Amino acid sequence: MDVVSENNFCFALPKIELHAHLNGSLSDKILRILGCREEDVQDYQCASVDQRNLDDTFKKFGIAHKATYCPEAVYIATKNVIEEFSQENVIYLELRTTPRYEVGMSSETYVESVVRGIQDTKNHMMVKLILSLNRQHSIEKCQNHLDLILKMRSKYPDIIQGIDLSGNPIHGSFNELKYLFEKARKAGLSTTIHCGEIENSEEIKEVLAFKPDRLGHACYIHPNYNGCEKNWYQLKELKIPTEICLSSNVITGTCDYENHHVQEWIKDDLPFSLNTDDKGVFKTSLTQEFQYAMKFLNLSSSELWRISMNAIEHSFANSEEKSFLKSKLVDWKNKNLHFFTK
Ligand SMILES: [Zn+2]
Repeated sequence: MDVVSENNFCFALPKIELHAHLNGSLSDKILRILGCREEDVQDYQCASVDQRNLDDTFKKFGIAHKATYCPEAVYIATKNVIEEFSQENVIYLELRTTPRYEVGMSSETYVESVVRGIQDTKNHMMVKLILSLNRQHSIEKCQNHLDLILKMRSKYPDIIQGIDLSGNPIHGSFNELKYLFEKARKAGLSTTIHCGEIENSEEIKEVLAFKPDRLGHACYIHPNYNGCEKNWYQLKELKIPTEICLSSNVITGTCDYENHHVQEWIKDDLPFSLNTDDKGVFKTSLTQEFQYAMKFLNLSSSELWRISMNAIEHSFANSEEKSFLKSKLVDWKNKNLHFFTK
């Protein structure tokens, strides 16, 4: 396949996005719709390998938070992010965000605004919400957030499907918050944990012992990537699907596209999906992430189609929804066989 056909394929392929933070997914267009100042729009994006720093990336969220300071702005941001994913043929999206309050907006109103944005656009595609606990917050705050998450879950059981641990990995610890994830799991929420974004084999071990439904990033698990043999062995046993975010890891300085830790998942045939993480901050799209996978990981169109198919299985959708999505993907393949011939 030539490069043009490869790009056409990556765009047209029905895609599954499992790891997208609402406030990191605001494109420059959305920031302008929200009335963001031009210098903030420029400052928000760090799509350059010269800015290889995880800390800097977390500072970008301040700009997004300023832009989504009220319920209406949160609603508009949510609708537009969904619309942009839909325009590049993402057929299933799991958005994630941490409950937050601002002057004039309670955490509950914030979550309600996101849910409203999802409800008002869900005809275009299937959208679910994962609510996050931020490891930088105090245990008390995380506890309050969990109470809110469980309340919202019982109010919107078709939309709120999961809980996530996110935030700057140099702060806090999974172990301190583990009991909250156990509580969430008991209440029927699926779990995904940002794991191994920095070298921390002890915490990775604790996360694996919890056996979450999915892992985010998992950069430093394999011994070739400053992880440890025991944890890698454990992951191989458990086969927990990993949410891979190529550009995010490259731009924050974890690895290069050519030498990305997902190579180990490919070698050992472990489950993973391709995702954007923060498509606004990293100036990417899911289409672009698939193009990078073709270019740098040498994955074929059949292999990328299979990644989409497997991601449906990793998703937090129910079995009926999964069957619907799978049939959509099969139909698309049957109608586009020219992409799959050499
Ligand atoms: Zn993330």
